[in-house]
Amino acid sequence: PSATANMKDKADRATTEQVLDPRTRIILLKMVGRGLLYEVNGCVSTGKEANVYHAVTPERKHLALKIYKTSILVFKDRDRYVSGEFRFRKGYSRHNPRKMVRVWAEKEMRNLKRLQTAGILCPEPIEVRENVLVMGFIGDSEGWASPRLKDADIPDSEFPRLYCELLLTTRKLFHDCRLVHADLSEYNILYHIEPKQTPPSESDAPPQNTEPNQTPSEPNTPAQDESEQGHLYIIDVSQSVEHDHPHAFDFLRADLRNVEDFFARRGVRTLGLRRAFEFVTRERLESDTPAAALERWLAQADDDDGEGDGEGEGEGEGEKAGGAAVDEDAVFMRSYIPRTLNEVFDPERDVGVLSAGAGAQLIYKDTIGIVAPKADDARPAERRVQFADEKDEEESGSEGS
Ligand code: ADP
Ligand code: MG
Repeated sequence: PSATANMKDKADRATTEQVLDPRTRIILLKMVGRGLLYEVNGCVSTGKEANVYHAVTPERKHLALKIYKTSILVFKDRDRYVSGEFRFRKGYSRHNPRKMVRVWAEKEMRNLKRLQTAGILCPEPIEVRENVLVMGFIGDSEGWASPRLKDADIPDSEFPRLYCELLLTTRKLFHDCRLVHADLSEYNILYHIEPKQTPPSESDAPPQNTEPNQTPSEPNTPAQDESEQGHLYIIDVSQSVEHDHPHAFDFLRADLRNVEDFFARRGVRTLGLRRAFEFVTRERLESDTPAAALERWLAQADDDDGEGDGEGEGEGEGEKAGGAAVDEDAVFMRSYIPRTLNEVFDPERDVGVLSAGAGAQLIYKDTIGIVAPKADDARPAERRVQFADEKDEEESGSEGS
């Protein structure tokens, strides 16, 4: 009985975050009951529209729960994504926040499925119930979330490769998923290094007689080992729009502007906004693969930079050399999308890391107090639930007043 009271108390406290209203708690408890979840841990992220929690399955698999906030104010400014979407002609009620939020969660789920089907790296979509989206957890085996591209500690030499990866992903998103992300930036991309498949230990190494002509792995090339390379995982696709949405191109330009700016700041010789836009949208690329085409386009951009002769292959009609590219991009933005800079303004960026600090990525910062009823003492101590109130005391104590 006292445990129950304690849990209720914790849940009530969590409710002050305005995510876990009673109905949401019931949804989570049902998931626990069905054996989808074993326990729900602390926040990975608190956002304007949703919080993301870490959870584990009974098999101790890590999950991420994105729980959309159900307060009405938050979703008012989302209309611009919805109006013009064929998918939302019906059933989008501005007057019922729970319904609205449900639409967003379901949309994110469907979009994630499209990404997954196209082979784009993203969290695995698992299930959606009203305002709760259950997805695969992008992080390490201990349950630490992978950093956002913005925060990731990445060697400079990796940025050109990641830039290419992201442009190719955006192109795939556009042509294969028929989507424009519409909030693409270093904030909505996780840099994740897939944990190396634990190699079988010496003793249970495969028998000698397999594949006689298999090239032996080279022992001294750890840096070239592709399995240790980080990759970019696309997240936060609830506002992504169909490629034929009336504002799709505006959103795409703003997305690419973020990409171009970010990688240019990291010293990458990028295509420039205009060419990046062409690269993503153009139906045919006159190369065997998009990757090969991108390599060619980048080499071309380099030539233009170096020699300043401005003679392209006819692909960048009107493309100017070197320093002109930046001005040209600015003109391109202004001439096509006068409203975009305001529209795609990301409050997260200015309010800046609000509660962030280093602690924001910590998944056990606090807990919402939902745990499977059968307490399993065998699980490791760090997997046991921390009590939100205990944590609170610690924090308020250390902060002083
Ligand atoms: P918001 O709408 O609040 O921006 P996001 O989908 O971008 O929601 O998620 C917020 C943060 O939560 C991300 O920046 C990331 O740090 C973390 N996050 C989201 N999804 C996952 C996931 N599947 N695995 C690990 N961390 C995640
Ligand atoms: Mg986000």
